[in-house]
Amino acid sequence: MSFPDRNNPYSFDEYLQWRNSVNYYLDDEFFQRVVRHYSGSEWDRIHNELIKLSERVSYRWRDFAEAIAWPEKRPYIMHFDGHNHRIDRIVRPAQTELMEQEVFSEALFSSKTLPWLKLAKMFLIYQNGEACIACPLTCTEGLVALLEKFADTPDTKRILKHCKEGQHGDFAIGAQYLSEIQGGSDVPSNVLEAVRDGKTWHIYGKKFFCSATHADYAVVTAKPTDTEKVALFVVPSWLPGDKEREIRNGYTIDRIKWKMGTIELTTAEITFNGARAYPLGPLDRGVANVVGIVLTFSRLTVGLSAAAFMTRSVREAKKYAEFREAFGLKITQFPMLTNQLQWIETCAMRTTAAAFKLYREFLHLEGGLKGGLVSNESPMTKKKRFAVRELIMLQKITASWDSTDVIRMAMSVFGGHGVMEDFSSLPRLFRDSAINELWEGPRNVLLTQIHRDFQRARTWYAPREFV
Ligand SMILES: Cc1cc2nc3c(=O)[nH]c(=O)nc-3n(C[C@H](O)[C@H](O)[C@H](O)COP(=O)(O)OP(=O)(O)OC[C@H]3O[C@@H](n4cnc5c(N)ncnc54)[C@H](O)[C@@H]3O)c2cc1C
Repeated sequence: MSFPDRNNPYSFDEYLQWRNSVNYYLDDEFFQRVVRHYSGSEWDRIHNELIKLSERVSYRWRDFAEAIAWPEKRPYIMHFDGHNHRIDRIVRPAQTELMEQEVFSEALFSSKTLPWLKLAKMFLIYQNGEACIACPLTCTEGLVALLEKFADTPDTKRILKHCKEGQHGDFAIGAQYLSEIQGGSDVPSNVLEAVRDGKTWHIYGKKFFCSATHADYAVVTAKPTDTEKVALFVVPSWLPGDKEREIRNGYTIDRIKWKMGTIELTTAEITFNGARAYPLGPLDRGVANVVGIVLTFSRLTVGLSAAAFMTRSVREAKKYAEFREAFGLKITQFPMLTNQLQWIETCAMRTTAAAFKLYREFLHLEGGLKGGLVSNESPMTKKKRFAVRELIMLQKITASWDSTDVIRMAMSVFGGHGVMEDFSSLPRLFRDSAINELWEGPRNVLLTQIHRDFQRARTWYAPREFV
């Protein structure tokens, strides 16, 4: 019961004080245990590095991520400069560019960076949502893996070095353009044309979903003239010396899409009109290599980022529930709400644990990544490789699905405040999460692929054994 009070003193400040000072790594005992469990003898070094990173990711980059999410900060495109030169400049807020430069300077894909450190850092970084960081990070990781396998010319080796180790302190950013207007899942239906002119290749046609449009290099799928097989290319956004002059490499960015989530990152429609392209791998193995190598990383990232989005949402919802009262009780005293909190916490923990466990299996794959299903291996290795491939798809489906459910429920803990974009980051994480369900293979497509894989493997790996 309460009497009227025209100067209602209610304040969220106590909750905000906690939220402003929370440290993503130091205040998360579960995640610290996960890191300790998986990093083994490297734990000391990784732990210390994470303490340092967490200081930036939990405060400075968190605030940048919030600031750039406002509608008026949306990136936009300037097609021409003031002197009638076509430039197709992606204009982004200064905070985005600064944060990108700081995150990429972590040299996550350098051979000097320990794999577990990279993974744990990515988990912390993803707690800030897409923020024009998550997609470019995973695209760069996929590009590096592809180039490590297939870079065999001075041009492709230079691109590899730029992405992996940096050039004069500048770390290049990757993108991946597969989807066309007639099909995103159906990559074999691509019609972008790759034309060979002596020793060089040029591409012609349109790509319809091009995220991280500001990137330095993109993995692009295209069909060589008069063939039905998709090949893989790496395409620089600018040829050497042209970036400063804003002369793009034979393509135009026609339009930036207006989308529901990941809004800090542009997704564009692009027309290639003779862009210089460098082939990667055998020309008839493009689909196998893009799925087996590039999409593998993107799908692992969806699993990891789902775990990170959930972790942050659950942490903030739990604390809010401890703070908020209704009907004279702390809302944690309502058993239905407590059950919901327990469920979302379990989901966040199991997704985090699964992401790390699957990554260990992936790291231990004999001979590393291979495109498609490989036949000439020992039965044990063959089964292991098969299992990891299927688990990556299953994880992508499950984690992205759970993430949207968990964030929706976490939002409900805040009642009406849960959907307010200026009350917490949860609505933004929810919108980003809905995107995670769709890109890198929607649910049905992956389930169909899993079904097809099991049919192909049925003589040497029974589904029951896999389960
Ligand atoms: C925000 C955003 C950014 C994106 N950025 C990029 C990018 O940078 N690069 C890029 O290449 N792509 C990008 N995409 C595209 C994305 O990868 C595709 O949207 C996705 O692959 C699905 O393709 P589609 O949209 O053509 O849908 P479709 O392939 O037309 O699918 C439509 C529906 O049919 C179902 N379906 C399709 N095939 C099957 C099947 N065999 N069995 C059962 N069901 C099936 C699907 O599950 C889906 O429900 C982006 C998408 C979004 C939303």
